[in-house]
Amino acid sequence: MSTKEYKQLGCLDVQPSGGCGFQVRAETEGELMQLVATHAKQCHKLDSIPAEMVSAVKAAIKTVSVAV
Ligand SMILES: [Zn+2]
Repeated sequence: MSTKEYKQLGCLDVQPSGGCGFQVRAETEGELMQLVATHAKQCHKLDSIPAEMVSAVKAAIKTVSVAV
C-alpha cells in the first residue's frame, strides 16, 4: 500500500461565514484553484475570484496523504 499527497481545501476554510460544506481535493495547486473557481462561480455567483480570496485560498490549502 502506498500513499499519495493531495491538496485539500474546504469552502468554510476560506469563508467561515458565507461558505458552504464544499470540499475539494486535487493533485496540484493549479488544478485545485480551477476547481475552486468553478465552485465559486456555480455556488457563490463569483465570476472571478478576487485577489484577496486567492491568497486566502492558498493559505487554507492543506496537504493530505491518502492511501491508494
Ligand atoms: Zn462554497
